[in-house]
Amino acid sequence: MFKGILITKDDAGYQAELQNINESVLPEADVRVSVEWSTLNYKDALAITGKSPVVRRFPMIPGIDFAGVVTESAHSAWRIGDKVILNGWGVGETRCGGLAQAARVRGDWLVPLPTAFTTRQAMAIGTAGYTAMLCVLALEHHGMQPKDGEVLVTGASGGVGSVAIALLTTLGYNVVASTGRLTESDYLKSLGAALVIDRSELSAPGKPIGKERWAGVIDTVGSHTLANACATTKYGCAVAACGLAGGMDFPASVAPFILRGVTLYGIDSVMAPTELRLRAWQRLARDLDMAKLETMTRDIGLSHAIEVAAELLKGQVRGRVVVDVARS
Ligand code: NDP
Repeated sequence: MFKGILITKDDAGYQAELQNINESVLPEADVRVSVEWSTLNYKDALAITGKSPVVRRFPMIPGIDFAGVVTESAHSAWRIGDKVILNGWGVGETRCGGLAQAARVRGDWLVPLPTAFTTRQAMAIGTAGYTAMLCVLALEHHGMQPKDGEVLVTGASGGVGSVAIALLTTLGYNVVASTGRLTESDYLKSLGAALVIDRSELSAPGKPIGKERWAGVIDTVGSHTLANACATTKYGCAVAACGLAGGMDFPASVAPFILRGVTLYGIDSVMAPTELRLRAWQRLARDLDMAKLETMTRDIGLSHAIEVAAELLKGQVRGRVVVDVARS
């Protein structure tokens, strides 16, 4: 038996509870990991609250991320004692996930914990931070450089947004943070944002094309915000879209793409190939300021994950939340 959050759905309804879980709940897989730290991402909050049909099988242990130590392995890449990270691959959605003290997954899905990080730091980064790095990699691949001008980060106080600001400013970019919480301006500036703007400047229906401003955009919000960001991106520059915190729709026109050669990159962390994951984690080890990571991170125990999930969906959580699975 081990402790974890278990989601059940039956005649009593949809429920997430901290429980003692039998090992038999875990799926067959070639690697067993003793989980040390997990985290709460937007998708985990959707799963725990049941606000969106993220969980496809029941009973389910939520948690799209974990970091821990291999305790059993029939996979050639992993030995007992190896420290590993898992992000995505449907874990916490279709296969039992990381918000528990143990997990069983396919060895092909694991990446080694970079020596720069503890398991706690890896989960302070989590899928949110790894996705922020995937966005940076896409914009760099497009040719974005600090001399090109302002880079917009939307949903700035959230997990992806906070890590994106910290990464971009370390790399020398002039970052504009868009937030619905202007009370968090000092926090966003402490991460390196040069300017903080009110999210309402971008969230209303806008024109098909506007004044050129952004040398690059990392958008976690979607909907009108993404459409307006594309409409005001400079000629030949790019937008990396990874989120839907403001909506899944994309009420845009083709004008920015066909008149300004703007490129829209879609960013997916869940099924990203291993080679790209390894590059992202290497770059996080090189470019993420650990002191900034600490200022954006809050620690909680497993039982608190349920109440904090509701706060996260209300947009009340700042930065990242790490979950100590040894703590109830
Ligand atoms: P968080 O909840 O930590 O942050 C989301 C932020 O978005 C909030 O802090 C808030 O920032 C802003 N926001 C919330 N509600 C609204 C709204 N109605 N309109 C506009 N802005 C809003 O989530 P994450 O940072 O972890 O994830 C952000 C998004 O990215 C989510 O949609 C998530 O599903 C997606 N995601 C996608 C991944 C992928 O692989 N494509 C991987 C990881 C995340 P503020 O208060 O500053 O405005």
